[in-house]
Amino acid sequence: MYTLKEPLEGRGNQLFIDGVSAKSLAEKFDTPLYVISETGIRRNFQRLQNALKQHYEKVKIFYAAKANSNLAVLKILESEGANIDTVSPGEVLLALTSGFTPDRIIFTGTSVRNDELKFLSDSNVIVNIDSLSQLNRLLKIAVPKILSVRVNPEVGAGHHSHVITAGKHTKFGLWEKDALTAYKVAKQAGVKKFGIHMHIGSGILDVKPFVSALGRFLEIARKIHEQTGVDFEFVDVGGGIGVPYKPEDKEIDLQEYAEKVLSLFKDKTNQYGLGEPYFCVEPGRFIVADASVLLTTVNTVKITPYRKFIGVDAGFNTLVRPAMYGSYHHIIVANKADARVEEKYDVVGPICESGDLLAKDRPLPKIDEGDLLAILNAGAYGFAMSSQYNARPRAAEVLVKKGKHKLVREREQLDDLMSSQQISAEWEQ
Ligand SMILES: *Cc1c(COP(=O)(O)O)cnc(C)c1O
Repeated sequence: MYTLKEPLEGRGNQLFIDGVSAKSLAEKFDTPLYVISETGIRRNFQRLQNALKQHYEKVKIFYAAKANSNLAVLKILESEGANIDTVSPGEVLLALTSGFTPDRIIFTGTSVRNDELKFLSDSNVIVNIDSLSQLNRLLKIAVPKILSVRVNPEVGAGHHSHVITAGKHTKFGLWEKDALTAYKVAKQAGVKKFGIHMHIGSGILDVKPFVSALGRFLEIARKIHEQTGVDFEFVDVGGGIGVPYKPEDKEIDLQEYAEKVLSLFKDKTNQYGLGEPYFCVEPGRFIVADASVLLTTVNTVKITPYRKFIGVDAGFNTLVRPAMYGSYHHIIVANKADARVEEKYDVVGPICESGDLLAKDRPLPKIDEGDLLAILNAGAYGFAMSSQYNARPRAAEVLVKKGKHKLVREREQLDDLMSSQQISAEWEQ
């Protein structure tokens, strides 16, 4: 049987999340419902920070807000002393609203508009440049106090081709030659402080790709340092640490990750004369994925000559990862937490597409209408990627902590589907 990990726990046949019963939350707030454990988020952040700090003092963790940008989540991480990685002006605004000061915010956008560059410049956040075009347009607006360049270390990795963000065919980052030009141009324009950045991909459970990309990355940093005289205040190695989704997946060994990555980092910064820059990481998924579950109610059990379908009230409008990446999410029957697996089902949502599948051929206990399913590891790229497709209002989010709960995002209502639309008989000339 699947062993539940903190913050999940079975008490008899009932699933509890951070000390709160899933059933009671579903009754109070209805489903589909995202349940976020504060204890889980804090634990993940602290585990990573402790592992890294054992090897190097100057560590900064930038939480990648795109994984889950709920204000409650951002505030928790702010209070832990995290920094934050943002990819849009909207995320910068959410970060500022949650109490992050601009010096704790880095912006790593791609295909950035001029008005967005102006907003970033006015906000005084650290801008991480993704192209020479972006740099030239930024310098016309203002000369930033500190500037970082995202380089392509030519080594990518990830759980799906969509999330590999370095290597030959990626749109992200600057190749070495352009990176050299970028630092020269920025220095000439009067920029005084610099960082350097890479982000190779997402959902990586193996330490090797991080180490090989870092090796190449630091060689590029060395060339930049030698050829332009730039010193780095920080070296940011990006995010991408994966989490186990399938029961047989092995957790990344954090001690091994910290030891291998930081020993290479210390050796090479020393050997290349790069001084003692801050070592920065940008985990998104690792911090929030296993801290949340998505609760969804079974409304239909439908047996056809070929398949056994369970129809639930969450679809790919609520959680798109299975449809988009073919991702696996483990499922627990929250009101039959101690029941044995008996049947194989396809768990399907209310969206009118055959791709609206949360799980295929999934062994589960015998399912009845009204059962409550908990879709695990839903905290990263869950709510954040949800939509109103099929004109379905988005789900609510509730925060739980040691037996207490509070609603942190109201469920959208049908009226919200119409709130920004206009029906007018008038045509403008
Ligand atoms: C998406 C992203 C991250 C976070 O990726 P995870 O796999 O969730 O850790 C970090 N940095 C940048 C620049 C990103 O785009």
